[in-house]
Amino acid sequence: MADPPLALLAELTHRCPLACPYCSNPTELVAKGAELDTATWARLFREAADLGVLQLHLSGGEPAARHDLADLVRAAREAGLYTNLITSGIGLTGARLAALEAAGLDHVQLSVQGVTAEVSDRIGGYRGGFERKMQVAAEIARLGLPLTLNAVMHRDNLDDLPATIDLAERLGARRIEVACVQFQGWALVNRARLQPTPAQVERAKAVVRAAQERLRGRLVIDFVPPDYHSDYPKPCMNGWGSTGLNIAPDGTVLPCHAAQTIPGLSFENATVTPLARIWHEGAAFNAFRGTGWMPEPCRSCARREIDFGGCRCQAMAILGDARAPDPVCRKTQGRAALDALLAAEAGHEGAFVYRRA
Ligand code: SF4
Ligand code: SF4
Repeated sequence: MADPPLALLAELTHRCPLACPYCSNPTELVAKGAELDTATWARLFREAADLGVLQLHLSGGEPAARHDLADLVRAAREAGLYTNLITSGIGLTGARLAALEAAGLDHVQLSVQGVTAEVSDRIGGYRGGFERKMQVAAEIARLGLPLTLNAVMHRDNLDDLPATIDLAERLGARRIEVACVQFQGWALVNRARLQPTPAQVERAKAVVRAAQERLRGRLVIDFVPPDYHSDYPKPCMNGWGSTGLNIAPDGTVLPCHAAQTIPGLSFENATVTPLARIWHEGAAFNAFRGTGWMPEPCRSCARREIDFGGCRCQAMAILGDARAPDPVCRKTQGRAALDALLAAEAGHEGAFVYRRA
């Protein structure tokens, strides 16, 4: 039997006032009318806690688009879960943040699209967004809620990394997550336009190393380098079906948020099937669990329990085969396809395809 999951990502809604071209939401967004109601989410939080989940990430879309957000936080707290709100900040006011804090919210992750209004509002596709975010950050600081700044980086903003780290410091964040864009959902549509250059990536690594040294004890800097420029893949989801699960706005339970891009997998809905049964017995959760599914060279590789063969959705997106090793890996034949793709897409200057319903 699988160990229990530690974390649940609850995608409360796919609605969002922003339109980021790097959004990892699926291109087929769930409509408002199909979203789970308050009572159902509350029941699922209790089921998740009973299953062993400790941390709940309230995500979206924009979770603040849900008017019952404080009720959901309260329900999660009553279930004994640690609650983390992942938000763009748009739709939050001082009063709403105070209500969330009173309901038991433990932590906020606030996203920034850039360090100036010009860049941030252009990338987010939302005029006035940057100013609102700065107001929300000030309210978070006033309430004393622990804050992590989330900065998704790509070709258009990676050179602003030093200023992004400065911004996190100024806003009183305890941590900044600098994550180079992962190519799923809308980001996959915009991959050629978003892909950073190798020179940008090398500069960013040096900036992160220096800042980590300078800010030790004041600001934690987590850096997620871009996959395609690495030699080995990331341990996607820390291994499929090992530590976390996602629930989509309509109750579909997923091993990762892009799992629906893999043809042939069937996904169950938490309104019909208990979460524990889905986690332990669900066909999708068992499809790539452990190491038994692995082909060579992963099967006999010393890194098979370090990166778990990488990301199944990435193997699907690039090689058309979810069972193949992640093509980021330089030990595999698939790497040639990824290198060819990088060369073909280098310097692409098209327009963004903004996320839209
Ligand atoms: S990435 Fe942008 S568009 Fe997508 S949910 Fe977050 S803020 Fe909204
Ligand atoms: S061969 Fe497979 S397990 Fe080994 S490093 Fe590459 S992707 Fe990871």
